[in-house]
Amino acid sequence: MRVCVIGAGVVGVTSAYFLARQGFDVTLVDSRERPAEVSSFANGGQLSYSYVAPLAGPGVLPNVPSWLLRADSPLRFRPRLDPHQWRWCLDFVLACRASVARTSTAELSTLSYLSRDAMHGLLAQEPIEFGHVRNGKLIAYRDAELLEKARRLVAYQAAHGADQSILSAEETLALEPALNGMRGKLAGAIYTPSEESGDCRLFTEGLFDKLKTLPNVALRMSTNVRGLRRRGAVITAADSDKGDIQAEAFVVASGLGSRTLLGPLGEDLPLYPLKGYSLSVPLAHEDEGPAISVTDYERRIVYARMGKTLRIAAMVDIGSADAAIDPQRIALLKHQVAEIFPKLDLDAAVAWAGLRPATPGSKPIIGPSRSAQNLWLNVGQGALGFTLACGSAALLTAQLAGVATPIDATPFLPK
Ligand SMILES: Cc1cc2nc3c(=O)[nH]c(=O)nc-3n(C[C@H](O)[C@H](O)[C@H](O)COP(=O)(O)OP(=O)(O)OC[C@H]3O[C@@H](n4cnc5c(N)ncnc54)[C@H](O)[C@@H]3O)c2cc1C
Repeated sequence: MRVCVIGAGVVGVTSAYFLARQGFDVTLVDSRERPAEVSSFANGGQLSYSYVAPLAGPGVLPNVPSWLLRADSPLRFRPRLDPHQWRWCLDFVLACRASVARTSTAELSTLSYLSRDAMHGLLAQEPIEFGHVRNGKLIAYRDAELLEKARRLVAYQAAHGADQSILSAEETLALEPALNGMRGKLAGAIYTPSEESGDCRLFTEGLFDKLKTLPNVALRMSTNVRGLRRRGAVITAADSDKGDIQAEAFVVASGLGSRTLLGPLGEDLPLYPLKGYSLSVPLAHEDEGPAISVTDYERRIVYARMGKTLRIAAMVDIGSADAAIDPQRIALLKHQVAEIFPKLDLDAAVAWAGLRPATPGSKPIIGPSRSAQNLWLNVGQGALGFTLACGSAALLTAQLAGVATPIDATPFLPK
């Protein structure tokens, strides 16, 4: 059976790979010339398998007023005359209820551990050079009260298989001396030794190169899909600017472009762009940046070392129309980073902005669409697309193949 996968970001490329390995004939289509040119380009690089709590949680809403008033806030909200924005925000607020967030965390954990296993299995078969390290993750807290609350989350996540511990400020600095700039301000940290990181674009490009070698895969880059042709309950072709693309099944893995593709079929995907920024800073010396991945919790800034580059990612801007770089946000980010890592050469940093394709409750949508019999979705990985890509692809592939799914697919099925 031929499956047409639309989208060559990290989610589409992993989907194409898992489907091809399952024995499907695969056509992978993308409007860009190269894979990973959109949201998967320069993200935070965190493979955050043990830390998948949704963005919506009980701790978020009380913080929102102060975040909205402060110029140095990690969150910026621009209200728009857009019913989709208001509906998404309302659903986000509903998803902040403690019971919902708890259930979502457990469900996302099953997908992230599947992802970790699927990624390790993939790399055993297809070695890809993408700066992949298992260097652990420190979530650093300035506020002792927040650290106390985190203690409860650690206990909860431990019950779901996470290997995490709470460190005092001194223990944190002993483990990661590069955090010395936080001395005197640090309350402590959550340490997860098993966490991984790597460059999402290099991973996606590397896997894309493997796809080129598989006899059952056809690659159609620089090909924009304008819509899906439906006859009765069946999609007959992807209508592209290079002609119709025929297949027996179609997988939409087009990130934020998925909404535009599915709208005409009557499917209103709850995806909204959450804009974020990254800096890629060249490291001249080993001690300039952290060796362990770090999250500065109160500022929501993540740091990951990728070889001789430090990737720094941050901020959630709601209501930004596109992925244009806002110089003020980059200046703020550089200022905040310099406070902790004064030795970094931030003038040499390469800035990037991207849009996270987010659902209100942070759970991706994986499975059969309700708008056609042979249409499948793998979208909405939001802030965790790199982390969840391999598990999402494995789950989708099992569903398409009609075999037992490796985890319960129900929480992720399209509604
Ligand atoms: C600042 C920032 C930091 C992040 N940090 C992390 C992190 O540390 N860890 C993590 O796990 N995740 C992180 N993420 C999230 C992650 O980057 C995304 O979830 C992921 O890249 C989404 O991948 P995707 O394949 O769904 O979408 P995309 O990468 O956007 O791919 C979609 C593809 O579909 C193509 N497409 C769309 N419409 C069409 C069409 N009509 N025809 C043909 N092609 C089409 C596009 O060209 C594109 O190539 C971060 C995101 C941002 C913005």
